[in-house]
Amino acid sequence: METTDQEVVDSRDVAIEIDINMSSTSTTVCVRCGKQRIVLSVTKGMAGNSAITTTETICPDQDCQKKVDGMLGLEQEKRHQSFLLREKKMSARKPVKTSN
Ligand SMILES: [Zn+2]
Repeated sequence: METTDQEVVDSRDVAIEIDINMSSTSTTVCVRCGKQRIVLSVTKGMAGNSAITTTETICPDQDCQKKVDGMLGLEQEKRHQSFLLREKKMSARKPVKTSN
């Protein structure tokens, strides 16, 4: 899974946007190592009168990017599991015994 930054820009920000595309680096930094992330792809679209730019960024360090992806995946999995557990508890109306 890739990190997606979504931002709404108006006409005044076009110059900045072009700058980012030319340098192929993003304004976001890696959450893990703090390096400036590389722009993988930029998708432009319109929502009403606003131009929407969706930028996919990756860490320049491939191993780090994999770890970040893993971290995010694990976090989502944990949330999903706790959600399922809560649903189970509510339907059973008594505590569910877990190994941890
Ligand atoms: Zn990194």
